[in-house]
Amino acid sequence: MPLATDHEPTIAAISTPPGIGGIAIIRMSGTIALQIAQRIFRPRNSRISFDSFPTGKTVFGEIHDSGQLLDEAVVIFFRSPHSYTCEDLIEINCHGGPVNTRLILDLTLQNGARLAGAGEFTRRAYLNGRIDLTQAEAVADLIHAKTQRAGRVAASQLQGALTRKIEVVRDELMQTLAHLEAHIDFPDEDISPDTRAKLHGTIINAQQFAQSLIRSSRNGRILREGLRTVITGEPNVGKSSLFNLLLGSDRAIITPLAGTTRDTLEEILSIDGVPLVLIDTAGIRHTEDVIEAEGIRRSQQAREAAELILEIRDAREFVQTGADVATNPDPRNLCVWNKSDLLDDQQKKLLDVNGIFVSAQTGEGIETLKKTILEKIGFQSMDAGAEEFLVNTRQRDCLMRAVKSLDHVLSSFEADQPLELITMDLRSACSVIGEIAGKTSTEDLLDRIFSSFCIGK
Ligand code: GDP
Repeated sequence: MPLATDHEPTIAAISTPPGIGGIAIIRMSGTIALQIAQRIFRPRNSRISFDSFPTGKTVFGEIHDSGQLLDEAVVIFFRSPHSYTCEDLIEINCHGGPVNTRLILDLTLQNGARLAGAGEFTRRAYLNGRIDLTQAEAVADLIHAKTQRAGRVAASQLQGALTRKIEVVRDELMQTLAHLEAHIDFPDEDISPDTRAKLHGTIINAQQFAQSLIRSSRNGRILREGLRTVITGEPNVGKSSLFNLLLGSDRAIITPLAGTTRDTLEEILSIDGVPLVLIDTAGIRHTEDVIEAEGIRRSQQAREAAELILEIRDAREFVQTGADVATNPDPRNLCVWNKSDLLDDQQKKLLDVNGIFVSAQTGEGIETLKKTILEKIGFQSMDAGAEEFLVNTRQRDCLMRAVKSLDHVLSSFEADQPLELITMDLRSACSVIGEIAGKTSTEDLLDRIFSSFCIGK
């Protein structure tokens, strides 16, 4: 694994979000971080010297610029290698606010630090071997988590849950590789049928494991980004009412007038920790109104891009037309009959077996709707306790390449091809599996991964 060199410049950034806040944190990492702190920070306790600056402890004092007081601050020093980056790292906890934090950041830059790039602290943590790539990616996932469930999965990946699983499989494949390579040196000795069966089993297991992770990547993406879910239907069927009820807020305007919603509204809805990007749209009808027509065009656009479509219809329509109501064959579609409260008991009897009936006014049927949504998109309840992973596109790509190499290994193995050929594919499978944790990585790959991070992380 490449090491960040001693000559890496010391970097600095504001690690807290921009804007007004009680406290902000400015971070510096690198060989001269402590020296810079010495120039700009005076501990209140004059007995604290920079030669013996305490590590991992808070030190209260003042930030000065050429003798002028800028702020009071609490500084924490983490000595290399016991820090986030494995380098000397200083955290300045100062008062928040864009002007103050910018002044202090500028002061660190004037004294020799360079402004950190996106994700550069985490990149250094990876380059210095403290975390692997899946853990670095989990940092971004944790920061951007839209629900507690997504955050929980990211946190366990940050602890290495995905890496540990992958390492077990990679180790087994490496042992198989070593075994086969040993046989290359003794071409006269046949591999015993027992050993053959064992090796074959190991490769099949590895392949199944990779395939199950590939399958889980869809759910990982949903947990990470949210499932784009559009609420559509004719005007006045109760789309906005349902949107508000699901979100538990009066986000959309509701009136008895058709054509109230003229633009698409977007909010994150969590169903049992699974994030949905819920989009309320203008009701689709013919209109001469240019604003409403633009709203309808956006509705159609949102519908095309949606992964789940909640098609809202009036439950009275169902009762009038009975089971003959034409349903949309689009597999993304879920037909939801709203205003069930307007049906009498006799009519309601019809409903039990015939789809999802809800009332955005009374809340009836909403829990069933949520459960049906989770089932339709292939999620178990969080209580089911199944282990979840956030497999991202990069990791998925590695897994697919590994499956392909293992396919070659299996067919060569079964066709009794020369061991040299088999081991070549097996080595390549081990190597792409190793790429997941970043055993090998290129500058380009790291640029791609860390460019999506925030500055200061
Ligand atoms: P949209 O145009 O499809 O977004 O529909 P709205 O949510 O604006 O609702 C249109 C009208 O239907 C409003 O007067 C709502 O109060 C009413 N409405 C919505 N949902 C229900 C429901 O479940 N039951 C009843 N009785 N009225 C509803």
